[in-house]
Amino acid sequence: MKYLPLAPPGATPLRVLAIAGSDSGGGAGIQADVRTCTLLGVHALCAVTAVTVQNSVGVKGFHKVPGNVIAAQIEVVCHDIGLQAAKTGMLASTEIIEAVASAWRDHAPDGAPLVVDPVCASMHGDPLLDAGGLDSLRAELLPLATLVTPNLHEVRLLVDVEVTDAESQREAARALHDLGPTWALVKGGHLRGSQCSTDLLFDGNDFHEFESPRVDTIHDHGSGDTLAAAIACALAHGYPVPDAVAFAKDWVTECLRASYPLGHGHGPVSPLFRLGQ
Ligand code: PLP
Repeated sequence: MKYLPLAPPGATPLRVLAIAGSDSGGGAGIQADVRTCTLLGVHALCAVTAVTVQNSVGVKGFHKVPGNVIAAQIEVVCHDIGLQAAKTGMLASTEIIEAVASAWRDHAPDGAPLVVDPVCASMHGDPLLDAGGLDSLRAELLPLATLVTPNLHEVRLLVDVEVTDAESQREAARALHDLGPTWALVKGGHLRGSQCSTDLLFDGNDFHEFESPRVDTIHDHGSGDTLAAAIACALAHGYPVPDAVAFAKDWVTECLRASYPLGHGHGPVSPLFRLGQ
């Protein structure tokens, strides 16, 4: 695959802000975002939203960072360092979503793209968002989003559509777009029976389909975070949204092929292949 252009040594790279939770197992969350940004040559800024107590087997609990501290992280990096795109991951609570939305409205550079990965639960089913969080995502954050990137479980929670085939995937994309993002991406990765993973992108007018081979592995922890972070990196480089999604799909496929076992459960997708031999 073709990668993003690198800044020469000593030159300031483009910046992407990851607004996300920490994964103590180092596979998903903000650790996955930083790894992806770094290996794509982008400087990752970090607003930590929550500290999860997590290993390869599951999420044992988490501690939420106060909303005002998260907003302050966003404010100070926007004002001093500047950024070309941002992505959100685990936001944990209504209070945090409101703080992030308000800080983004007040401090983001004009027109900077925002990718919202509406993280609701871990792959093991551990909740990562409180009960009122879905309403705040719909009301506060999705209208600010350039792109929302739910998986099929998150689609069900956000718009109450059960995606089972191409037609219901389109229905879900329309319903998500109605919530206010400029673009909606319905990830088909977990569609039963598919030999390939087909994601559907919609901007209110046109549908774009992205197909990639399904990589058969249980080590796919952090794949959603990695996709959203790679999209944000490509957007930071000025890619149009469909091109950014195509780039990020290829990136995640490579990271899935390079994923590795870790602990006793699900290992992480890995961009370490980019380091070469
Ligand atoms: N932990 C954190 C902090 C996350 O942000 C996420 C996903 O965004 C997860 C865990 C879940 O990742 P996965 O669904 O790949 O297990």
